[in-house]
This record gives sequence, C-alpha cells and structure tokens, in this order.
Amino acid sequence: MSKKALIIGAGGVGRVVAHKCAQLPEVFGDITLASRTKAKCDQIAAEIERPIKTAAVDADDVAATVALIKSTGPDVLINVALPYQDLTLMEACLEAGVDYLDTANYEPRDEARFSYEYQWPYHERFEQRGLTALLGSGFDPGVTNVYCAYAQKHLFDEIHTVDIIDANAGDHGYPFATNFNPEINIREITANGRYWEAGEWRETEPLAVHRTFAFPETQVGEREIYLLYHEEMESLVKHIHGLKRIRFWMTFSQNYLTHLRVLENIGMTGIEPVAFQGQQIIPLEFLKALLPDPGSLGPRTKGKTCIGCVFDGIKDGERKQAYIYNICDHQECYREVKSQAISYTTGVPAMIGAKMLVTSAWKKPGVWNMEQFDPDPFMDDLNRYGLPWEVVDGASFYEQLPQQI
Ligand code: NDP
Repeated sequence: MSKKALIIGAGGVGRVVAHKCAQLPEVFGDITLASRTKAKCDQIAAEIERPIKTAAVDADDVAATVALIKSTGPDVLINVALPYQDLTLMEACLEAGVDYLDTANYEPRDEARFSYEYQWPYHERFEQRGLTALLGSGFDPGVTNVYCAYAQKHLFDEIHTVDIIDANAGDHGYPFATNFNPEINIREITANGRYWEAGEWRETEPLAVHRTFAFPETQVGEREIYLLYHEEMESLVKHIHGLKRIRFWMTFSQNYLTHLRVLENIGMTGIEPVAFQGQQIIPLEFLKALLPDPGSLGPRTKGKTCIGCVFDGIKDGERKQAYIYNICDHQECYREVKSQAISYTTGVPAMIGAKMLVTSAWKKPGVWNMEQFDPDPFMDDLNRYGLPWEVVDGASFYEQLPQQI
C-alpha cells in the first residue's frame, strides 16, 4: 500500500528528493513538499509530472510543524532543510507521531560542531513512542555508512581501517561557489581536521594533511585529497567491530582553497555576529547571500563525482583490501532531476531511506545511524534508483594512502 511523505526543505537536495519520491508512486502515493519559501516548493512541483502538494512552514517552529504534520498525515517526515532544524523537527515528529529522517547531524547556529551528541539522547523518547528516527541518510553520511555495514557483513571478518574518500571533479565555471549550502559547507571545511586511531580522536590543523590520490575513473583522475572531520566517523567507530583507524578525505582544487583562504583571512567565514550599520550580521551568512545559489549550479556543472570507502582488514585469516564506490555524472543528474550530482547523491539516499522506513524494511523504534540496519535492501535500491556501486580489489588504492600522519 502506498504511503505519504512530507519533505521539509526545498533546496538542492529537497528538489531531488521530491523528484525521486514522485518516480515511485507505488511507494509514495502522496507527497507534500514544504519549506520556508513556498514559491520554491511550487517551482519544484511544477517540474514534476505527477501532482505533489506544497506548503509553507517554519521548521524552527515546533507547533507550526506539528499542525502541518497533522493536516497532511504523513508516514515519514524527510528533513532536508538545514542541520539547524533537526531538533525542532524531531520534537515535532515525537509530538505528532511520525517517523523521522535527515541527512546531516544537528548543529547549533553559534558553534560549528559536528556531533550526534544532540540527537542520540532522543533514542528513548522515539523508542517509547514506537517511532523510528534514521540519522544521516545522504551520501556521506549515509551511503558511506551503508558501504561499511556491507563490507562488515559480506567482505571482511574484521575491518581494521576505513578511509572514506569524497571526490568532486565537477566544474561549474564560476571562480568560487560551494556545491551545497555555503554556510554548512564552509563551516565544515574550515574546522580542524580530526581522525580516529587506536581508540582516540586525533586533531590536525584545517586542511593541513593531504595526498595525491588516483581515482578509479579516468574522468576523475588524480586529485589532491584533504583530511577533514566528518560526522559519520562518530557513529562508525561505535558500530564497526575491530576498527583500528578511520579517516575522511575530500578533494579540493587549488583555486577553491585560495579563494577560501582569502575569505577566511578577511573574516568573511566567521560565525560570530558583527555590528554593521546598526545591525548585527554574521559574516558567513552574508557571504552565503553573495555566492551563487548551489541550486543554480546544475545546468552549468560538468564532470563526475566519486565517493567511496577503502577498507583494510581480514577475511578467512588473510589480509585483504577492498574499495566500494559510486561514480555519478553531474549532467546526467541534471537531465533527470534538474540538479547537479552533489544534491543528487544526497537526495537519492534520502528517498531510499524513507522507502526503507515506510516499507518497514528498516523499521525499529529508536534513533539509529544507517550502519545499524541490514545494508542489503539499501544497497539493492542504490543500484535500482541511480547510484550504482562497484566493489573492487582495494590494494592499489590503500597503498596510495599514508599509514602515518
Ligand atoms: P539548501 O540551502 O539548498 O536548502 C535548504 C532548504 O531548507 C531551503 O529551501 C530553505 O528555505 C529551507 N529551510 C531553511 N530553514 C528553514 C526553516 N526554518 N523552515 C523551513 N525550511 C527551511 O541546502 P541543500 O539542499 O544543499 O542541503 C539540504 C540538507 O542536506 C542540509 O542539511 C545539508 O547539510 C544536507 N546535505 C547532506 C549531504 C550528505 O551527503 N549527507 C550532502 C549535502 C547536503 P529558504 O530557501 O527559504 O531559505
């Protein structure tokens, strides 16, 4: 029987989720897309052949969100607004009695922290209400967690190291733009790098550790990868048995880093309010207003993304490496759903996560990370709905990564 989905957030990712849910009428019989600016929802609805409903909502307002949930009666709330809304939307789901899903962990506005410490404490309340909250159902976090669960289930007896590697080899032709919400993106990459080894977190200066890495796809090629902190590591260190080390790497071009360095040096990436002509403004929020809207990059972006995990561990008593990854083409994504690959690779897993919940494939009261469920139905759906994956011998990829930092 088909179900009802309420999507909150009509940005780049919300557009993909709306398109992809609409492609599955047998699963999502009724779709409402709601966001702060209803006109953006209406614009997306007009692109979709099937009728979907739209609404205005301020997701910071629990009562307003509860009223919207009650009037639309969804089986799942898909939160693809901003990380700032995670807690109010979780509260609204608890009050109105609906399952919850997001793609990024909660962040306080005044402090760039990436941690599940705010959302994990909701576990008992969701459990008692008989509701499921699925955290981080994008690509990274999201698919990367499912790749780890798959490797743990099928490829290894023990996983010793995981290196998550995220490459965007796309070119949008602008001197500087971010591929998703600039405020969230810049907060993430200007923070200290952090990785986990031998049971403890180790910090590095922002973007200080980097290597050249040859990707499996010729159109991605050789790129510089930079060590960053990324939120999925916080849950994976708890759930992958025998893990000795986990790191996260992302590609950046020299041009991108030069622009970023200048913006940082002049204070434009700051998140502390600054007095300006009688008003308090946050420099990073102002910068966001100046930069191209990530949603507008779709038609201009050419090239591919490659996101995956390199594993080292033991299988049947022998040392082994494996690499699981997806390649996604920006222009193919745009042709299908009018968004570039960054939004696509986030929105497709959000739709699949919602499908796992409404079909009860992954239903379990409480608050969960992706790797805590059986990876198989999710991995099958990645192949079916636009994000096919490969598993290859990882030895030549593992050898390119530094063993010591
Ligand atoms: P955008 O900035 O493009 O879109 C965010 C949307 O949320 C906008 O439509 C915005 O409305 C809406 N919104 C913001 N505040 C509120 C509010 N208080 N009430 C209702 N709606 C609100 O972001 P993206 O689409 O690029 O990203 C969406 C989410 O996906 C983010 O949380 C991001 O961190 C996450 N993400 C996850 C990734 C992953 O792999 N896991 C990768 C990329 C992104 P308005 O237009 O009116 O401002």
